[in-house]
Amino acid sequence: MLHAKNAGEFLKNEKAVDSHDKALWFVRAKRDKAVNKLPEWESLRETASGIKAHTLSRLDEYLEEFERKATENGIKVHWAETAEDHNHLVRQILETHNVRKVVKSKSMLTEECGLNPFLEASGIDVVDTDLGERIVQLAHEPPSHIVLPAIHKTKEQVGELFWEKMGTEAGNNDPSYLTGEARKDLRRKFLEADGAITGVNFAIAETGEFVVCTNEGNADMGAHLAKVHVACMGIEKILPKREHLGVFLRMLARNATGQAVTTYSSHFSKPRKGAEIHIVIVDNGRSKQLGREDFRASLKCIRCGACLNTCPVYRRSGGHSYGSVIPGPIGAILSPGIDLKKHASLPYASTLCGSCSDVCPVKIDIHTQLYKWRQIVAKEKYLPASKRMMMGGMSKIMASPKAFEMAGKAGAWALKVVPRGIVYGPWNPWGKEREMPEVPKQTFGEWYKEYEQQESENGNAK
Ligand code: SF4
Repeated sequence: MLHAKNAGEFLKNEKAVDSHDKALWFVRAKRDKAVNKLPEWESLRETASGIKAHTLSRLDEYLEEFERKATENGIKVHWAETAEDHNHLVRQILETHNVRKVVKSKSMLTEECGLNPFLEASGIDVVDTDLGERIVQLAHEPPSHIVLPAIHKTKEQVGELFWEKMGTEAGNNDPSYLTGEARKDLRRKFLEADGAITGVNFAIAETGEFVVCTNEGNADMGAHLAKVHVACMGIEKILPKREHLGVFLRMLARNATGQAVTTYSSHFSKPRKGAEIHIVIVDNGRSKQLGREDFRASLKCIRCGACLNTCPVYRRSGGHSYGSVIPGPIGAILSPGIDLKKHASLPYASTLCGSCSDVCPVKIDIHTQLYKWRQIVAKEKYLPASKRMMMGGMSKIMASPKAFEMAGKAGAWALKVVPRGIVYGPWNPWGKEREMPEVPKQTFGEWYKEYEQQESENGNAK
């Protein structure tokens, strides 16, 4: 299984696992504090979920309304069915304006479409301007988290990377110093760029405007300095009315990082004089997901990242172990929808504890959907042969009380007589870190028979 194998690699560095786990739990705890300050949190969740469900039920109408209004405002609207269409459109827009240097703020959609390598192969220089994104770009790695892209890196690793790539002081790992140096370097890039790319957090159908949320102001800086701004947006980002924004802006940062609101929530409604705004609206498999009744609600996601921070599997296996652009519980729902065979292991990267669903601001039934994907994966025979055989055997044993009793007795006997070296051999990864359970003196079946006999002797028989 791909995820388990990759997680095994991550787990080899215990110190890194520990710091990853602690950092994300810290964010989760901050989120709880921020959320608990709002007595109306649960009703906000209910409202947000309702707005998203309604919007998804009339997605085509709202998207067309947005196109009309945005065009009236002077924004050029483009439609992309696939990731390839999206990349070609963005390149075409940039080439029309002779753009050779682009600054880009954080956008998971452009990661999904593989935009950076595509543009670079066409001779267009792309610089990621979100600090976390810049770190992973310099390290030639994909982001490992949708809100905190470099959370898998320690400050020592970042210090060494900046020394190597930007010539910072050797051995200086002070986060404030490193951030200051990155800021100086990025400022030069902003001034040199002739094009800017941003993502879109929310787009409003009734006004044709869109909103980009950042904590560093990098989206605004890029968009306001460049002559052409290309915003890339998935079809699910639409909201019907401006008044709905308040609900989502109150929830997004609180649930993501525990802030009351994102530092910069920038509204783009029309291009300034002499500049252009283009918006590329992308499907790339989302319509298919919309048509899957059991998984439709996954399109409500506002990418706050809270389900990643709370997930015990994500925190201890790292984002790269998922092998998909969006990691964590929500990624484990979205990625199989794009390529089930490739991502068949992801729905199993969960304890199904339901903590993800509890923290989700738009009330996506994440753990239920993971369980549903598991059923599909098994039905489509994408489970490894060994697991299929084991589960087939288990289902036969569990379907027969006699076989279940015998298997229990055989297991108890084996645990008592089989040498430890064999019980904890390489075939038993579970036993690598844990002791097998102690064999009880009697099985539940034996205890129950005894209990019934005693009850009947005492005259309490049913
Ligand atoms: S599924 Fe919910 S909790 Fe997870 S990132 Fe999306 S909105 Fe946030």
